[in-house]
Amino acid sequence: MPTIPRTRILLTLGGLELLLTALEAALVSAPLHLPGVAVAPLSLLPWAAGLLLVWCAMVLRWMRPLLSGPAGAGEQEVYRRGRALPARALLARLGCWGLLAVLMVEQLTRAGSPGLQTVVAMVAVCLLHPLCVGLARYALWQRALRRFLASADLLPPPLTFQADSLRNRLAEVGLLLGVAAGILLALLVNLFVPLSASQILAMEAYLSWPCLLLGAGWYFVVLPTQTRPLEAYLRGASRGEEPRPRQLLESVARTHRLPYLLALTKIGFMGAMGAALMLMARPLLGLDPGQAWLLLTALLIVAVGAGVYEMIWSRAELRPVVTHMVSRPGAEERGMRATPIRIKMLLNLGGSVIFTVALALFWTVLPQQNPMGLAVLVLLVLLASLGVVYLTAADVTRPLAALERRAAEVVRGSLDREVRHDGEFDTSARISSAFEKMRKDLLRKLRTIEQLNEELEEKVQLRTAELEQSNTELVQAIDALKEAQAQLVRSEKMASVGQLVAGIAHEINNPINAVVNTVGPLGETVRELAEAEGAETDARQDALEMLRVIRSGVERTQRIVGALRNYARTDGEIPAEVDLHADLDESLALLAHQLRGVAVEREYSFDGKLTAYRGQLNQAVLNLMSNAAQALEGVDSPCLTVRTRARSGGVELEVQDNGPGIPDDVLPRIFDPFFTTKEVGAGTGLGLSITHGIVERHGGEIQVASEPGQTRFTLQIPAAPPEQA
Ligand code: ADP
Repeated sequence: MPTIPRTRILLTLGGLELLLTALEAALVSAPLHLPGVAVAPLSLLPWAAGLLLVWCAMVLRWMRPLLSGPAGAGEQEVYRRGRALPARALLARLGCWGLLAVLMVEQLTRAGSPGLQTVVAMVAVCLLHPLCVGLARYALWQRALRRFLASADLLPPPLTFQADSLRNRLAEVGLLLGVAAGILLALLVNLFVPLSASQILAMEAYLSWPCLLLGAGWYFVVLPTQTRPLEAYLRGASRGEEPRPRQLLESVARTHRLPYLLALTKIGFMGAMGAALMLMARPLLGLDPGQAWLLLTALLIVAVGAGVYEMIWSRAELRPVVTHMVSRPGAEERGMRATPIRIKMLLNLGGSVIFTVALALFWTVLPQQNPMGLAVLVLLVLLASLGVVYLTAADVTRPLAALERRAAEVVRGSLDREVRHDGEFDTSARISSAFEKMRKDLLRKLRTIEQLNEELEEKVQLRTAELEQSNTELVQAIDALKEAQAQLVRSEKMASVGQLVAGIAHEINNPINAVVNTVGPLGETVRELAEAEGAETDARQDALEMLRVIRSGVERTQRIVGALRNYARTDGEIPAEVDLHADLDESLALLAHQLRGVAVEREYSFDGKLTAYRGQLNQAVLNLMSNAAQALEGVDSPCLTVRTRARSGGVELEVQDNGPGIPDDVLPRIFDPFFTTKEVGAGTGLGLSITHGIVERHGGEIQVASEPGQTRFTLQIPAAPPEQA
């Protein structure tokens, strides 16, 4: 919750009040001392003091909600009170002065009949002089309170605030400058134009009322007609409405025009006063022509000065409005015209030069030149020209300095913040807007480049992933191809070898059978012959020994031929349902003598159905088990593991031993027919070729993994063999 700076408000308003009351007292009491005015100001002092106290009490009472802050009165109420306070104070003060004016007129009439002109002059002194100070008070209080409300965050949103306060702020500028001009004029007249008491009173009586009327006309008629369209625009904008292009252009043009218009009105207003002065000079005011011209000159000089300041100051007041309008998108493209800085400087500095030169020249035409007057004039010239130069320089350089700061930020890479021109739509505003366009373009281009980079990176990543994927696929395809090629070569080899072997086996089988069948009877015959002929025991023994050797050779040959026939077996075995685990156990039982001392582990987990060439499958498994048994000879704690597992569409069968393993140079050749590493007579080199052929016939696959200490043959057998061609 924002807090209101109570003490600061009281101190500021109190301090201002002290100064303004002193000024008020001086302005009212000065004419009362003129000779011929039958009023004793001191007699009115208790009244004035009492009324002042009442006024203070009333103002403090009105200020109470404001001072208690938003926590006590609510934010809206505080803002409302803050806005209304200066006007209330002004009206109350005028009320007090009205009462004093009545008392004064009463004093005048008690002293004798004062004449209408004196009465009117006295009422003017009592009402219009305090009104001048009152208006200044009003303007100063408004400004101070607005600052306090802003510091406590109690102002409405910027555009609403601008719309609410636009007319008042411009009026305050006009009022303050009008009052300053009046005081300056009074000073100049006092110092340089010799006027009699009756002339002063006549001027009070005849000139101050038209002056009041003109001021009221300016405030109630001229100013509202100028500000109303702008207020409508600001209210619309605060509601988020988009102005019509014409309305925007007109509003901008009006806002640009307004300070000059106000300055001209001020000069015109004072010119009108001058004209009235000249008209009334002789008949009503009793001035000689010299005095009248002197007064007119002083008036015009002051008018120019007030006009120049009014132009600069109201431009400053309108700056936020212009900034908002100029920042509307496309305002410039729609034909908004910029004020060249040159013109602005010419108007500001030119006005100030005219004012100061005129003040200096004023000295030369004066009939009575006193050192005090000279000092005041020099001071005025200096202050006025310095003020204008300072304000003009600030007006021109402030936006440029802001632009410079922003440009430095952009150079450092901060492109995100908008470049806003804070001021009128002039040359520097065009530079700012060009700069803003450049910033936007640059930002857009940078973003596009960044986006392109990101897209490129994404594409590269995508492509790389695709390439990697196709690479992997390629490698897999090559592996598969190699495998297929090897398989093909092996199959071809096996097929041709198979045919050869089958032929040879067939051919050898009959003679061998004949030999086998003959060797037995031949032995009998030899024995009988030897017994009958009484042959020497040694010769008989030799013959029998030779026959034994022949038999063993023939039996071995018969086994080999059997194996060869098995190898090429294409006989008509029919696929049948197999009890795999029972058959495995049977094969292990068959090899029991070879597996003596070997730990046999069975890890059976296949529970599906298997259809196969049963005899061939048993043969294949037996070959693997027999190889394992041979490999396990002489191995410490030998172990043979037989595993089955269900695999999609069939069974996986593993025969694993912890023998010495197959050396790397041997591994590629183990499936070749007749390849063996075993001693002559121990192996035929056909076991694995046969197994391979059988597995293939079943439409399955055989894999081997071997390392020192472990060899594992894995058979993938489908649930049923393919149809044989
Ligand atoms: P054979 O057993 O008659 O030598 P195989 O075709 O059955 O013929 O085996 C070929 C070769 O593969 C074997 O000589 C042997 O070197 C190797 N081999 C097969 N199984 C194993 C095994 N379990 N451990 C070590 N080597 C093996």
